[in-house]
Amino acid sequence: MGIASINPATGETLKEFDALTSDAIALKLDQAERAFQQYRHTPMADRARWLNAAAQVLSDRKEEFGKLMTLEMGKPIKAAIAEVEKSAWVCRFYADNAAEFLADVPIATDASRSFVRYQPLGIILAVMPWNFPFWQVFRFAAPALMAGNVGILKHASNVPQSALAIEEVIRQAGFPDNVFQTLLISANQVEQVVADERVKAATLTGSEPAGASLASQCGQRIKKTVLELGGSDPFVVMESADLETAVATAVTARMINSGQSCIAAKRFIVQDSIYDTFLEKLTERYRALKVGDPLLPEVEIGPLATPAILEDLDHQVKLGVEQGAQLIVGGDRSQLPTQADPRLKVGTFYPPTILSEVPIDAPIAQEEFFGPVAMVFRVADVDEAIRVANHCPFGLGASAWTQVPEEGDRLVNDIESGCVFLNSMVKSDPRLPFGGIKRSGYGRELGREGIHEFVNIKTVWIQ
Ligand code: NAP
Repeated sequence: MGIASINPATGETLKEFDALTSDAIALKLDQAERAFQQYRHTPMADRARWLNAAAQVLSDRKEEFGKLMTLEMGKPIKAAIAEVEKSAWVCRFYADNAAEFLADVPIATDASRSFVRYQPLGIILAVMPWNFPFWQVFRFAAPALMAGNVGILKHASNVPQSALAIEEVIRQAGFPDNVFQTLLISANQVEQVVADERVKAATLTGSEPAGASLASQCGQRIKKTVLELGGSDPFVVMESADLETAVATAVTARMINSGQSCIAAKRFIVQDSIYDTFLEKLTERYRALKVGDPLLPEVEIGPLATPAILEDLDHQVKLGVEQGAQLIVGGDRSQLPTQADPRLKVGTFYPPTILSEVPIDAPIAQEEFFGPVAMVFRVADVDEAIRVANHCPFGLGASAWTQVPEEGDRLVNDIESGCVFLNSMVKSDPRLPFGGIKRSGYGRELGREGIHEFVNIKTVWIQ
């Protein structure tokens, strides 16, 4: 696949780009290293001022950037604008808090004085996905730049205009030249960047194969990585749950970004006694969801980002049925209203779909569905709910619904995931660490922990 913006709602090619040559990559890395040698000495107050200015640029231009994302990858426009606002929030959060997160930490020992000091590492490579084109990048860039590092972005090949717009935001905010650069390169050019000794570490948000490939390239060269990979988050609903709220939240949690979110709830694990009512209410809400042109503010589900994602999802649903699941709603693109619209007919739309009674041991139950498809599982009690929740290679987030405190404790303690949200949906928040375990990756972004991933944690002993 080349580097191009293609509107997934209409199939129209908006803009194409040539990948950088190997010499051009080397030049960008030279510029990044020179920038780092100056930037590492800039006062924290200056960095905070620039980052707050970046937040202001984002707020001022949120409609423009929101529309750009919607056109490039199909995100419904309201959510796209909200994503730009959230990106401004993470900038403000680190501008306000980085000085405290990175302050020296005194530690009592038998030295005259001993403490921990946090220092920048240098050039950090960020390989990012298309599903949250602004948010994913700013949640990397805000802490990295506050810590005094410089950033190199290799964004997904289908969102080059967003990638360039982000570089422009940083420039417009007044940061020194080249502290953040976008490299329009393909995935197989990433190794040249990793191999450069001036690049000190890398972070990747995306699929397992991409994460494994980058991590092995970095491992061979002893460079640190943070990986934020896939997820198939459980959403556990016990008998005592507030069912109306749980069902309404289930729909929101599954449908974030038309279902293409790592932390979308993907496996609904429901206690037997309320299973039928839950499914009935969920189906009713699914039928009411509005699929269509993502530029229209009332549309809730836009197209999937690329034809390949559509094809994969359709294939997974068919496999699910072959493996014993019941198709309750959706699963058939020909019924979509977009099929009757000549402009949207070629768009990569997929209907909200429910697979119920998914056999727990079906191979498909172990896979991530990256689109508006819910799998529903029936369980007898909290023990079985935890077993099913954990019977999955991923461990990113989990949402659990119960009014019984002991059950809540069990679910919080025993679900294997990077976070558990009780009686609420999983969401990322600049104030809270974010990341997974198992095949969802390692390391953390956001919060205090996020800014400590790419720093030298230097021990100082003074006698
Ligand atoms: P992807 O194919 O892995 O792409 C992600 C990024 O990695 C893109 O920039 C891609 O570049 C690059 N890439 C792909 N193969 C690579 C390789 N061998 N070496 C270096 N870079 C490589 O991911 P996707 O399928 O588009 O994105 C969806 C996945 O991301 C899902 O599994 C989702 O759950 C996960 N995700 C995780 C989080 C989280 O925080 N845990 C957040 C969002 C998404 P090209 O576009 O040029 O191929």
